[in-house]
Amino acid sequence: MELIYEQSRSGRRGVRLPASDVPAAAGLPAALARSEAALLPEVSELDVVRHFTNLSRQNFSVDTHFYPLGSCTMKYNAKAIEEAAKLFAPFHPMVPLLPGGSSFSQGCLGLAHELGSALAEITGMDEVTTQPLAGAHGEMTGIMLIAAYHKAKGNKKRYVVVPDSSHGTNPASAAMVGYEIITVPTAPYGDMDLDRYREVMTDEVAAVMMTCPNTLGLFNPHIKEICDIAHDHDALMYYDGANLNAILGKVRPGDVGFDVIHVNLHKTFGTPHGGGGPGSGPVGVKKQLVPFLPDPRIVKHDDGSYAVDTAHHRASIGRTAGFFGNFGVMARAFAYITMLGRQGLIEVSEQAVLNANYVMSRLKDVYDLPYDQTCMHECVFSAGRQVKNGVHAIDIAKFLIDRGYHPPTVYFPLIVKEAIMIEPTETESKETLDAFITVMREAAELAEKEPAAFAEMPKTMPVTRLDETRAAREQNVSYFGC
Ligand SMILES: *Cc1c(COP(=O)(O)O)cnc(C)c1O
Repeated sequence: MELIYEQSRSGRRGVRLPASDVPAAAGLPAALARSEAALLPEVSELDVVRHFTNLSRQNFSVDTHFYPLGSCTMKYNAKAIEEAAKLFAPFHPMVPLLPGGSSFSQGCLGLAHELGSALAEITGMDEVTTQPLAGAHGEMTGIMLIAAYHKAKGNKKRYVVVPDSSHGTNPASAAMVGYEIITVPTAPYGDMDLDRYREVMTDEVAAVMMTCPNTLGLFNPHIKEICDIAHDHDALMYYDGANLNAILGKVRPGDVGFDVIHVNLHKTFGTPHGGGGPGSGPVGVKKQLVPFLPDPRIVKHDDGSYAVDTAHHRASIGRTAGFFGNFGVMARAFAYITMLGRQGLIEVSEQAVLNANYVMSRLKDVYDLPYDQTCMHECVFSAGRQVKNGVHAIDIAKFLIDRGYHPPTVYFPLIVKEAIMIEPTETESKETLDAFITVMREAAELAEKEPAAFAEMPKTMPVTRLDETRAAREQNVSYFGC
């Protein structure tokens, strides 16, 4: 494909703007003034449209391909959700907040408030803030709330405990708030080692951060006991709810004993993710943490109107984001939850878990399954058997690209060597899963019969095998630099 700079022809234009009637600004410092025109491609509108449309067609997306990216929930988001979000697009965040329920800010405040209530109901928490702008931002907010709680009680706390299967953002968020990290290993059955957990739990532990099911896709049968042990030391339980697909309508972390949760609206609740945003990571808390929630808060009056509570709550950790969060993502989540309703959300998790177990049971004779148990919304294989023939998880990923599938997550969780983490999600049909299973089985067969064939894959892409280390370390995203 000819790139846009190569199509450039001197003087060619997409639009012709009228002569400026704004007087030129005087006094621009010479050092800031441009001496030569910017080097931009000179192309027609059609050239631009083709350029971007063709670029977009080189991408994988849920709208074009099955995308079983474990831990990341790349599911199909119905187009009706986008329509609902569009209803709110005209509202500027500075629309006046008139009292009395008559202003048009009422709908926006109402949406944020009702979304918080719905998420509190889904997660079993008492209150929710919608401010955090991503999962990791929610984690940091949650840990700041926990730190504020301990400070107010005069507790001396130093540590945050995480299992070694945790998502990397968990220890990172806790460290950013100033805690030292204690990592508990995974026992042979795939859950956190309970004996080791008991040993590390002291009165100096501020919080335990877990996700359940964990990143192996396994639900911890001892979760209640783990919460009780933490509470015995006045440590709080943090639930990483980035991915709620496994438990929606089935288990409420608040009922099990968790005190804080963040949820990723951009995984479970109607917004696609990837490419760096936008995201939203609302945080839910139990009663004892409500005083510390970020200001300002949205309140609902007895007459049904909504208002911004502008009081500065003395114990609040303060603002964590501008306005009330990433509003478009919140609007999508509200549309998603109300469209599905209670029964629909229950079916989401049932279907997601069924699909993952179906894929697991149909592939476990050809790929190693290090933790062979009924899984939740995702299953984790290892390419250990294929490695004996020199074929690694990354090679299987490249094979899948050539066959029209976005690869599953590979090399995560870190505790599984050559991990292949498959999350089919609830939105895929049995036919799609069967076709994917067939291709995964073909990969296993090729690894037996002709392992050398993988070296050249992918063959169908504009770029073939990349040096992934250099690509990450020496990023060069400029056309002129390459
Ligand atoms: C995605 C994810 C996160 C982080 O969410 P971001 O929005 O990317 O910051 C945290 N924990 C788990 C388990 C995740 O899958």
